[in-house]
Amino acid sequence: MLILNLSMKAILVVIDGLGDRPIRKFGDKTPLEAAFTPNLDELASRGICGIMDTVAPGITPGSDTAHLSLFGLDPHKHYHGRGPIEACGAGLKLEHGDIAFRANAGTVDENLIIKDRRAGRIESTKDLCKVIDGMEIDGVKVILKPSSWYRAVLVLRGKGLSDKVSPNDIKKLGVPVQKVKPLDNSQEAKRTAEVLNKLTKISYEKWRDLDINKKRIKEGKLPANIILFRGAGTYVPVPTIEERYHMKSACIAGGGLYKGIGAFLGMNVINVPGATGKYDSDFMAKTKKAMEIIGDYDLVFVHMKATDSAGEDGNPELKREMIEKMDAAIGKLLGFDGLLVVTADHTTPCELKKHSYEPVPLVMSGPGIRTDSVKAFGERSCSSGGLHRIRGLDLLPIIANHMGFSKLYGA
Ligand code: ZN
Repeated sequence: MLILNLSMKAILVVIDGLGDRPIRKFGDKTPLEAAFTPNLDELASRGICGIMDTVAPGITPGSDTAHLSLFGLDPHKHYHGRGPIEACGAGLKLEHGDIAFRANAGTVDENLIIKDRRAGRIESTKDLCKVIDGMEIDGVKVILKPSSWYRAVLVLRGKGLSDKVSPNDIKKLGVPVQKVKPLDNSQEAKRTAEVLNKLTKISYEKWRDLDINKKRIKEGKLPANIILFRGAGTYVPVPTIEERYHMKSACIAGGGLYKGIGAFLGMNVINVPGATGKYDSDFMAKTKKAMEIIGDYDLVFVHMKATDSAGEDGNPELKREMIEKMDAAIGKLLGFDGLLVVTADHTTPCELKKHSYEPVPLVMSGPGIRTDSVKAFGERSCSSGGLHRIRGLDLLPIIANHMGFSKLYGA
């Protein structure tokens, strides 16, 4: 007889933007259906499959809202913009009410026309952030911390602020840096916009003559002379996974947003060398690391990004290739004796080059799992599985319950 551990461990792999639509040159198969995926198919054979609307049927989720949902938090209630999640990913300890933004160091000419949104992909914003971080503008504390490469995280801390402000960066070149505007009639939005407009000016005045920029210009590189920001959001703390389920959890991801999701939800964020969040990411290093650390945690979340990027690049061959590499990496997890779950955060069809609403495939495999007749991991094969069609918000309760971390409801 199979005896279940009182509390089982789990590994949850989220393959970003995995879902797709039929591709004519693949004989109307999706990239996942067309890919050679012996390990995912083995999991489908061993486990139970289904499809999942990560937010709700007919809703096209962002990666941020989808992940909140996958970890049991209704994004309609708990999502307050991308900025705070990115800030958590950069290791910032935010305070309730902080207004956070994603920021870049960019290049402008003397008329403040944007020449490059990434300042020639400058390797670090450390020296730039240093001269602004900690500054006060109209009684508002400005926190500016470096993230990877040309990226940084901007936080405004103080009373009477609002995230209802426009960005100064509309992701276009050859246009002036945008004046930040309040997006509602509140005093808070007006004041926040004023602070941000002053900050934009200050960044240009303080950065343009820095030694680092003189050196860059001498080397024929673009100077990093303006702060660009977008994705305003208010930090409102959420109940962590530990608070909700008494589980210790860890996050293995390359991209800043996904590390941010982990940190936002109270997971221990583990940095894995070679995990870049790009096409060259070392997927195998991530799954190896998951197996190494699972002894110290109840739940390990592994995120893989490149499938979504290939979908957004409209490249089905590349998406198929990335899926095959991820499948090989997932092979490292087949010997795991706990609950192994593989799914996606949303569909990113190559033909659309953006996210779409269709549900994603899902497989759960491990001791005590009821099996079904699905033998292949794909969008259509999973739709006939025993989990049927669930919502993202259902996923963590199912995982936690199978792991033995849920209480009886009623008596
Ligand atoms: Zn995504």
